[in-house]
Amino acid sequence: MDISIVVPLLNEEESLPELCDWINRVCNENKYSYEIILVDDGSTDNSWNVVEELSRANTSIKGIRFQRNYGKSAALNEGFRAAQGDVVITMDADLQDSPDEIPGLRKMIVDDGFDLISGWKKVRYDNTLTKNIPSKFFNAVTSRVSKIKLHDFNCGLKAYRKKVVKSIEVYGEMHRYIPVLAKWAGFKKIGEKVVEHRKRKYGVTKFGWERFVNGFLDLLSITFVGKFSKRPMHFFGLWGTLFFLIGLGFTLYLIISKFISPEFNLTNRPVFYLALTAILIGMQLFLAGFISELIARNAPGRNTYLIEDKIGL
Ligand code: UDP
Ligand code: MG
Repeated sequence: MDISIVVPLLNEEESLPELCDWINRVCNENKYSYEIILVDDGSTDNSWNVVEELSRANTSIKGIRFQRNYGKSAALNEGFRAAQGDVVITMDADLQDSPDEIPGLRKMIVDDGFDLISGWKKVRYDNTLTKNIPSKFFNAVTSRVSKIKLHDFNCGLKAYRKKVVKSIEVYGEMHRYIPVLAKWAGFKKIGEKVVEHRKRKYGVTKFGWERFVNGFLDLLSITFVGKFSKRPMHFFGLWGTLFFLIGLGFTLYLIISKFISPEFNLTNRPVFYLALTAILIGMQLFLAGFISELIARNAPGRNTYLIEDKIGL
């Protein structure tokens, strides 16, 4: 299969028929073998009925329905699991992403050898104060921290080599950091393509300014967790050893001083307390390492969501 188009959706009943028609048209014109995976993230409107209708009319259209709303990351993650295409393209359901971008994105993966192409909405039709300004700030920081040169991490329109989506797990609010997750997984060719941003035609946005608060907390946790989550003992152990050695050095100095001048008063010296503190910190760090190692080894899967129904899969 050439392409899987993964679409996370929450209460998007009006947009779905038009979106699927459009994707079908583009894929048929380009003679792709394709599938559209619609992941209903706990919609409370008629979205799932629409998905079922669409799927019954066209076997390329498949649906997954979550038991409740788990968030866009979980929806993408489940779509990635199901995807069979050599290239996987994610797209929002609200017609703000144009299916006309599919061939260009696919070409960059297949012909130009990119692992991931992130859409860049250079011109946006969102509220400046609540969306555009925080978004600029967010992107600048993320790019800095992750050392990935992208202008628009948040864009829902992205294309991946299949291997990429099968090697990562998207959870929490991580849908904003998929390029970062991909980089960690070892995929180096990450690029971007300017894409059209369209006005939301139906329904309302599901994200407000709070997304940036959550986004920044996640950024903190990924930069930190990324450094030591796999082998916490390596991280804590190194610092623990360092502190321990410093403490040992001070102790040695004290012992030698005692030998040189017998009247030297051990506990009356600041160095004594430095030595004690350093040794204690070293031991604490080691202990933290052991505990995180235990947690890391026994951690359950991050994504624990329930699937209520599936169609076409
Ligand atoms: N979405 C989702 N689960 C959520 C919130 C949003 O699957 O909990 C979907 C939503 O239906 C849309 C996409 O994620 O297809 C992007 O959401 P939205 O258009 O509201 O975000 P915006 O374009 O305003 O950034
Ligand atoms: Mg939108």
